Amino acid sequence: MDLWKKTLDVLEGSVEPYDFKNWILPIQCDTIDPDEREIVLSVPDASHGEWLEENFIGEIKDTLRSFTEHDYRVRFTYYGAYGDEARGPDSHETIAPVPQGAPPELIHRYRFEEFVDGPTNQFAMTAARAVADHPGTRYNPLFIFGGVGLGKTHLLHAIGHAVVERNPAARVFYVTSETYVNDLIAAIRTDRMHAFRKRYRDDCDVLLVDDIQFIAGKDRSQEEFFHMFNTLHSAHKQIVMTCDQLPQSIPDMEDRLRSRLQWGLIADIKPPGFETRVAILKKKADADGMALPDDAAMLIARHVTRNVRELEGALMRVEANARMMHRDIDTHLVEQTLSDIIGDGLRRVQPEQIVKAVCAEYKVQIGEIKGPRRHRNITVPRQIAMYLVRELTDESLPQIGALFGGRDHSTVINALKRVEALRDASPDVRSRIEKIRRQLRE
Ligand code: ADP
Ligand code: MG
Repeated sequence: MDLWKKTLDVLEGSVEPYDFKNWILPIQCDTIDPDEREIVLSVPDASHGEWLEENFIGEIKDTLRSFTEHDYRVRFTYYGAYGDEARGPDSHETIAPVPQGAPPELIHRYRFEEFVDGPTNQFAMTAARAVADHPGTRYNPLFIFGGVGLGKTHLLHAIGHAVVERNPAARVFYVTSETYVNDLIAAIRTDRMHAFRKRYRDDCDVLLVDDIQFIAGKDRSQEEFFHMFNTLHSAHKQIVMTCDQLPQSIPDMEDRLRSRLQWGLIADIKPPGFETRVAILKKKADADGMALPDDAAMLIARHVTRNVRELEGALMRVEANARMMHRDIDTHLVEQTLSDIIGDGLRRVQPEQIVKAVCAEYKVQIGEIKGPRRHRNITVPRQIAMYLVRELTDESLPQIGALFGGRDHSTVINALKRVEALRDASPDVRSRIEKIRRQLRE
C-alpha cells in the first residue's frame, strides 16, 4: 500500500489539481501483487475506469515503474459510488441498453418562418440564422439566454430545421440538459459510457442543448459535458445552448465549463415590445385561420406583456371562445374572455394623463413635449409618451400624431420603434417606463 501512497504523491505533483481531485483521489487501492506485477484499483464506476484508461493510465504505470523498476498491469474494480446499480463490466449482458436520448424530434412549427422578430430578439435570431447557414464555423458555441416563454426553444429547433433543410445528411441532435443528465446517469449505471459518448460525440454534427442551467450543481454531468464540448468543438461541430441566464450567473458551474460557454457568441432575448406582440398575435391567428382585427390584437397585446407563451395562451382562449360561440373575434369578445387579465384598471387611462405622468417623471413641460423642439432631453420623453399612449389607449397612430403637436403617423411609428430599442438597451428607460405605468394604474 505504501507503493500506492508514493504513487499518489507523485501524481499529485504531475496531474492538474482538478483532475487529481476528481479522477485520481477517488481511486482506492485494492491489492498489489508484486509477484504477478498487478495492481487492482477500485474506482466509483466503470466509466471512471474507462476515463482513467484513456487519460491517465500512462502516468500511473510510469510512476509505478519508477518505484518498482517493473511494468505493472492495472486492473479496475468498481465500488459503486453512484448507487447499488453501478456494476462492473462483467454484468453487461444482463442490462437493458441505454434508452436512446431524444432523437432529433423537432417541433414542426418552431421554424424561422414562424418566428416574429423585433428589437428585443433580432440579434438572437440573426445569430441563429448565421449558425444554421454555417454550422461549426462562425459562432461556436452559440449561447442564447433569456427568460421563460421568449422563444429560446423555438430558435433552437429552427436552427435544427434549417440545418437539415440545407443538408439532409446532417445529424442534428436536440436534447434538453435534463435528458442529457438522465442519459448520462443511465449510461453510468448500465456501464454503457462508450455508447453514450459515441452518440453525443461521434454520431452528431450539430448538438442543440436546451436549458443548460439544469446541469448546475451536477459535477459528474458537467465533467462529461466539458469533455464532450471539447471533442465536438475541436471537430468543428456546432453547439448551440439555451439558458435562462448568462454563463457567469449560473450558480454551481465549474469555471472551466463556464468559460467554454462564453467562447463563442452570446445572444440574449428580452420580452417583446408592444408592436412585436401585436405582430406575433396576428401571425398566430393567421396560422390558426382566425380573423383577428387590429384593435382586438392590440387589446390583448396591451395587457399580456410578460412573455410570448402567455400571449399565445391568451389568444388561444379567445379563439376557443370565438369558435364555441360561433362569433368573430372583436374587442368585446376579448374583454369577455380575458376579463381576469384585463380587469378595468388600465382601460380608463386618458392620453392626457399619460402625457402628464411622463412630463413629471422627466421634468419637462407639457408644452415642450407637444412643441417642435428636437433636443434629446425633450425627444426621449416625447417618444415614451407616444409609446405609452399607443400601448394604453385606443388612439390610432394619426390621432397620436395629432395629440403631439400635429406630427404625422410615420413620426409616431418611428418613435415607437425607437422606444422599443431604447427600452431594450437602457435599464434606466425601462425602469422609468415601468414606474410611469405603475403610477397610471393607481
Ligand atoms: P422559451 O424556450 O424561451 O421558454 P419557447 O421557445 O418555448 O420559449 O416559446 C414559447 C412559445 O412562444 C412557443 O410557442 C413559441 O413558438 C412562441 N414564440 C416565442 N417567441 C416567438 C416569436 N418571436 N415569434 C413567434 N412565436 C414565438
Ligand atoms: Mg424552452
